[in-house]
Amino acid sequence: MIKIYNTLSKKIEPLKTIKEKEIKLYSCGPTVYNYVHIGNLRAYIFVDLLKRFLYYSNFNVTHVMNITDVDDKTIMGSIKNNEPLNDYTNFYLTAFLRDLKLLNIQLPDLMPKATEHINDMVALIKELKNKGCTYEINGSVYFKISSTKNYGVLAQLDQQNLKENASGRLDNDEYAKENASDFVLWKAWTPNDGNVYWDTEIGRGRPGWHIECSAMSMKYLGETIDIHTGGVDLIFPHHTNEIAQSEKATSKKFVNFLMHNGHLLVDGKKMSKSLNNFYTLEDITKKGFDPLLLRLVLIKTHYRQILNFTLTDFEEAKKILLKFINLLINLDFTIRNSKKEYANTDNVDNLIDECRKKFKDALSDDLNISMAISHMLYFIKEVNKSMDLFSATKIKEIKEFIFEIDDVLGFVRKFYNAYMDRLNKKTNNLNIYSLLEKREQARALKDYGEADRLREKIINCGLLIEDTKNSYILKIE
Ligand code: AMP
Ligand code: ZN
Repeated sequence: MIKIYNTLSKKIEPLKTIKEKEIKLYSCGPTVYNYVHIGNLRAYIFVDLLKRFLYYSNFNVTHVMNITDVDDKTIMGSIKNNEPLNDYTNFYLTAFLRDLKLLNIQLPDLMPKATEHINDMVALIKELKNKGCTYEINGSVYFKISSTKNYGVLAQLDQQNLKENASGRLDNDEYAKENASDFVLWKAWTPNDGNVYWDTEIGRGRPGWHIECSAMSMKYLGETIDIHTGGVDLIFPHHTNEIAQSEKATSKKFVNFLMHNGHLLVDGKKMSKSLNNFYTLEDITKKGFDPLLLRLVLIKTHYRQILNFTLTDFEEAKKILLKFINLLINLDFTIRNSKKEYANTDNVDNLIDECRKKFKDALSDDLNISMAISHMLYFIKEVNKSMDLFSATKIKEIKEFIFEIDDVLGFVRKFYNAYMDRLNKKTNNLNIYSLLEKREQARALKDYGEADRLREKIINCGLLIEDTKNSYILKIE
């Protein structure tokens, strides 16, 4: 049984779905006014791990992630750049999609843009108007937080300090806890908005941020969904407001499980441009790190923990990644050479079955990834111990098992394929394994001069050879 931490109850709960083996999943997506930073990417990698594990556990997942392509920041940016809003936001959306691909993040089933769903938002605001929980000032429409019971319970707000009605209303989408107040659903056009506005039944203007997610989540996934995700900073005001307005409109529960990832800090401080500790994926790759290493760095700390990112994190991640890749390379070589049938194949089967179970159990426990990875490292260690005793069939099964697990982890197969491509290029497509075989033959014939010459050639391709009692182990560094 899968258990996850639910921010709504502040407890770890068994994952109960609305429909058996089906998950309706909504993630708050990026505001496309700039390149995303690696903190944002942590939020999307967390969802990717969750989704891959749900698939692995035979759930049918429908995943929607919105694209916020209209708000104060996007409008300001497009005016400053003297570009139409759509061109300005599309540029950053394309960059975002490129990052997702490089990080091997599976795309959501749908990525609706806010600007293409204005009618849905207007319809929802009208519904709230009909229910008497809005008011209008100078063409802008506000949600009355006093119209809902329990406003702010999710964010543990002090009920005494909630500011209601005109004196407490706020136009901006993001605000501090102390300012909990009536929030804007529809913003009337002002000259600062330039030519960005929609003429609708509720006037000329544009939607607030919170209404966007309610409208698109309900449109594509239904009035009640299974899981909604985002970073902890979204608990208040964004998710608090999404829930208040959605539940008011439908009189139904908006979401059953709310999941939030912890923040990523850089060198112990909040990431920000002014502190010059703001990393994009491009900054990381320019420093020579593979995006898949960043994936591993971001994934290997439990999603709810604060991740204090430093560049030294790559060293630890690289050690883990190389354990997987070295295993695969050695398995490949042993498959070609394995002549013996392993006497007790049950050992391999047991090793795989036990590891699979432990891996699943760890992730079923609120995505305990560190535990899941440590079971895999134990498995690799055990296989390495007796690799040259396994039959080719069993070795193929081990390799398939690693790839099966990588359907969840998402960093092994892609890195391995890219590595093999690079290796083949370095050897001018001279098969590395035939070089290794030739060296073995030379050693068997005690032609050590030839064996050394071949060894040099192999080392020049970037592969280290460590001779063992019966054979040898290949390593990349
Ligand atoms: P935004 O584009 O600012 O709405 O953020 C997109 C996603 O990234 C949201 O789910 C945020 O909660 C999340 N996020 C923003 N900053 C960080 C950070 N430093 N660490 C982890 N997640 C973050
Ligand atoms: Zn949202």
